[in-house]
Amino acid sequence: MPVNVLFAAAPSRWAQYQTPLSDAFAEKDLDVDLRQEFAPEEVDYIVYAPQSGLTDFTPYTRTKAVLNLWAGVENIVGNKTLTQPLARMVDEGLTRGMVEWVTGHTLRHHLNTDLHVLGQDGVWREYVPPLACDRPVTILGLGALGQACGEALGQLGFPVTGWSRTQKDLPGLTCLSGKDGLHKALSTAQILILLLPHTPETENTLDTAALARLPDGAVILNPGRGRLIDDDALLAALDKGHIAHATLDVFRTEPLPPEHPFWAHPKVTVTPHKASETRPESAARVIAENVRRGEAGESFLHLVDRDLGY
Ligand code: NAP
Repeated sequence: MPVNVLFAAAPSRWAQYQTPLSDAFAEKDLDVDLRQEFAPEEVDYIVYAPQSGLTDFTPYTRTKAVLNLWAGVENIVGNKTLTQPLARMVDEGLTRGMVEWVTGHTLRHHLNTDLHVLGQDGVWREYVPPLACDRPVTILGLGALGQACGEALGQLGFPVTGWSRTQKDLPGLTCLSGKDGLHKALSTAQILILLLPHTPETENTLDTAALARLPDGAVILNPGRGRLIDDDALLAALDKGHIAHATLDVFRTEPLPPEHPFWAHPKVTVTPHKASETRPESAARVIAENVRRGEAGESFLHLVDRDLGY
């Protein structure tokens, strides 16, 4: 009997994922029937993205796991009909993409490349940036993405401080946790990178009080989630000159409405929630490994803690 895997994502994703998933299942010697439609009671696994429109998991009585295509699970984790295990996406392609976005935007601000890129006006600007070793960077969130970004920035020479819910011990990084840890992490952050998930606990992590703890002239990069930041507090801190720039990839409303003040603000850079994408080939291997584990009675990778919300 084949294993029935329902692909429940936006129809446009099928063309991207069908072949990589089929190849990955074959590589694991799994006999899988992969389809966009099944009778719910026949489904063994659901490969899921919220845009699928699937919101009621009650009829999926034999489903062993829901395998999220994306890293963030805030749109599904609170679904009361979902009683099956939920795995989020940790994909080496997604991680590499995030490392590239974070290092690229960190270096833009560190080197002040805008000065020359935007200022081709005949003025010889003799600006010498500090070395990376004199530019402390803080990352809020030390999960799959935060750790990889911390390692890459450390290799470039930046002193990196990271903050997470549970205390970590990571080579080359100053690791902090707890409220006092957050205050300390903010106080040294010339460049602050948000890589927390959105949960009730992390909502508005960067509010007026937290922004005030950042050094004057700090730069903020947010590839995490829009709801981590109080938008009005950020705009006020930018207008006051306390925060020098914010590069934002994620927003409370997406796409960011054209009338939103972030678009026109001279100290804000908007990128369209594409800091990093799940990559079909590598993500398909992660999904196939979880199906293999489920069939072998082994524990799933990257399970979401439903109480913590990530
Ligand atoms: P992850 O592995 O689950 O890591 C989450 C990190 O946040 C962990 O270090 C966790 O602490 C920490 N954390 C959670 N709640 C906290 C709290 N209340 N206080 C302090 N730290 C807390 O997630 P990930 O894979 O690194 O992804 C992070 C987020 O990036 C995703 O949730 C998603 O929102 C975002 N993302 C954005 C894009 C994009 O294109 N913009 C792409 C992918 C992901 P512990 O280590 O102690 O558990």
